[in-house]
Amino acid sequence: MMTSPPAFHLLSKPTGPICNLDCEYCFFLSKEMLYPGDRFRMADEMLETYIRQLLEAHRTPEVTVAWQGGEPTMMGLDFFKRSIELVERHRRPDQRVEYTIQTNGVLLNERWAEFFKENQFLVGLSVDGPRELHDAYRVDKRGVGSFDRVMAGYEHLRTVGVDVNVLCTVHAANQGHPLEVYRFFRDEMGVQFIQFIPIVERTTETLLPLANLGWSTERKGKRPLYVQAGNRVTNRTVDPKAFGRFLIAVFEEWLANPDVGEVFVQHFDVALASWHGEPPGLCIFSETCGLALALEHNGDLYSCDHYVEPDYLLGNITDTPMIELIASDRQRKFGQAKRDTLPQYCLDCKVRFACHGGCPRNRFIATPDGEDGLNYLCAGYKLFFNHIDPVMKLMSQLLKQGQAPSAAPDIVAGHEVERYAWAGRNEPCPCGSGDKFKNCHGVA
Ligand code: SF4
Ligand code: SF4
Repeated sequence: MMTSPPAFHLLSKPTGPICNLDCEYCFFLSKEMLYPGDRFRMADEMLETYIRQLLEAHRTPEVTVAWQGGEPTMMGLDFFKRSIELVERHRRPDQRVEYTIQTNGVLLNERWAEFFKENQFLVGLSVDGPRELHDAYRVDKRGVGSFDRVMAGYEHLRTVGVDVNVLCTVHAANQGHPLEVYRFFRDEMGVQFIQFIPIVERTTETLLPLANLGWSTERKGKRPLYVQAGNRVTNRTVDPKAFGRFLIAVFEEWLANPDVGEVFVQHFDVALASWHGEPPGLCIFSETCGLALALEHNGDLYSCDHYVEPDYLLGNITDTPMIELIASDRQRKFGQAKRDTLPQYCLDCKVRFACHGGCPRNRFIATPDGEDGLNYLCAGYKLFFNHIDPVMKLMSQLLKQGQAPSAAPDIVAGHEVERYAWAGRNEPCPCGSGDKFKNCHGVA
């Protein structure tokens, strides 16, 4: 018998892939080809169907209405005001609704900021670091950097105190500048919530030269539809070990400053949950997935935001209620494949409890013994998870004793010298990661 999940996460795309920027690494721009001739605007009727079904389908008191794109603010403020009216019309008295929106920030003004504040939106703002690093790939249709416009939008949010979560992609241009990036967010922007998202642009040997130019159709002419295929990566893609080192450098900075309990970095929070024996709350590091789906502007429901492609279209919510599509055998198998397709190398890995092989979309390399299906980012994940192991154990211990994890940095500082004093730069790191000390705990 089909059992439906009590809760799930749905990213809704009211403008489909349409965006007012033209970021070079954005795989989603090419999705325009899935709907030729479409206006890409969610109609009022569809908005109501979506909100009603979302609320009906949840058996938990908390429901999240999550907007994403493309660039959702291109729908205009009235669309979102209407969505709040519809939530109020359809929610059960016991349901609490939280709103999130992911935006590039360039259209934000006082009116948007006041609306977000009034309705307690959590705004995910895409920023890749200070100007030079942000503008490396986050450009508009003319190829001009978007930094000033994004910061102007952010200032409106900051002025009225909207909760902001910075979404920072890590790629070839900023992977070598972790401290510059983190300090910019913490010290210049003053944000408390930060997510780092590795850019892995997977492609085939044949498409690689074209893919290296970027996925935009508008600025660069005819592009292919981006699908999860191939085992090559573009020149903007983050290097796996550099990604691990990036996270380690930010982690050390976070620990060495009074940031624990003040600045929340998603990778660290999720890791602490895993070390503490709780669900990580992030699909990529969960054992199975399949409860983070994507809804297109016309009601088409896809298995995941990263699989908006014909083979992963579950159906349209005007024909079949979304909960039936989410509970379908097909979607269940999609989610379980994350666990069931792990190579032996992952099954034997000592940090598997925290990593679970990462996202299946990035599992396109071979293990050292030649088995397919290893995550492209594995080397970075190994570095990072092994590096944070002693501190995570300590934080989990503190939590068990009813103390705050923010006590950890002082305790760690007392032991750090003796733990690592004897390690030579080219010797294996004492933490047991298997990497050289200079690339692990000895990272600059
Ligand atoms: S495929 Fe990847 S991004 Fe999509 S739900 Fe699964 S783990 Fe998450
Ligand atoms: S660190 Fe690598 S080997 Fe270990 S579970 Fe993650 S992807 Fe697999």
